[in-house]
Amino acid sequence: MSLEIFTHSWKTFEVLQIPAFDDNYLYLIVDSGSAWAVDPGDGPIIDSVLTQKNLKLKGILNTHHHSDHVGGNAFLAEKWQCPVYAHPKDQARIPAFTHPVQEGLTLELGNLKVQVLDVPGHTLNHVAYGLAEPQWLFCGDTLFPCGCGRLFEGTPQQMYGSLKKLRQLPGETLVFCAHEYTLSNLRFALQEFPDDTLLKRLQMEMTEKKQRTSCTIPTTLQMEKDANPFLRWDDPKIRKALEMSDAEDWQVFAEIRKRRDHF
Ligand SMILES: [Zn+2]
Repeated sequence: MSLEIFTHSWKTFEVLQIPAFDDNYLYLIVDSGSAWAVDPGDGPIIDSVLTQKNLKLKGILNTHHHSDHVGGNAFLAEKWQCPVYAHPKDQARIPAFTHPVQEGLTLELGNLKVQVLDVPGHTLNHVAYGLAEPQWLFCGDTLFPCGCGRLFEGTPQQMYGSLKKLRQLPGETLVFCAHEYTLSNLRFALQEFPDDTLLKRLQMEMTEKKQRTSCTIPTTLQMEKDANPFLRWDDPKIRKALEMSDAEDWQVFAEIRKRRDHF
């Protein structure tokens, strides 16, 4: 079976974006023959890409404990004898865990500097990995184009805080999300905000892109700041549509998240 891999390059660095399961993306960050896997939910698929591209796996970065993100950890860590980075409080839920990572830590992976951000909400212990050069963000199940992760363990306030943190990153940041949910997110967003011209335009563009390439990820943070209702808690148009002009920011977020859960 030939596997379709999407490649994004910046100077000597590459991201290999590998579709898996129904709608997941697994990632390899590559520099000079070395690779780091972000959320390798499927070990054999990652291993076949490493072989095909003649790469050595140097480490595994997990954003959170869900099996579609950590399912390949044990297989790959055993085969490649590499470290597994994850939030320390999820040690028991992360197979082959070796190295704790938390907000404030910068990992030096070869020539790459990777900053760790705590972004709880989807799960209680969820981290994102942000590179400054190139501006790449691996956010797991926290942020999606025109959507955000479901709140399995965290509170709306926690997720709001996490999204607020991500919203402060530079607009040029390329956001590598873990699922292809874009078109259903847009259907929901337009049901709630049918007069939003940017969302309407995006729906046309993303539908066309999905048909042409089967993939709408990565997105840019600027696009999400402008269009994603889950990042627009302070946008008067969003507040007016929800009749929440005087609500707290996090309450606006919580209302949109609640409506999405029932969509
Ligand atoms: Zn998840």
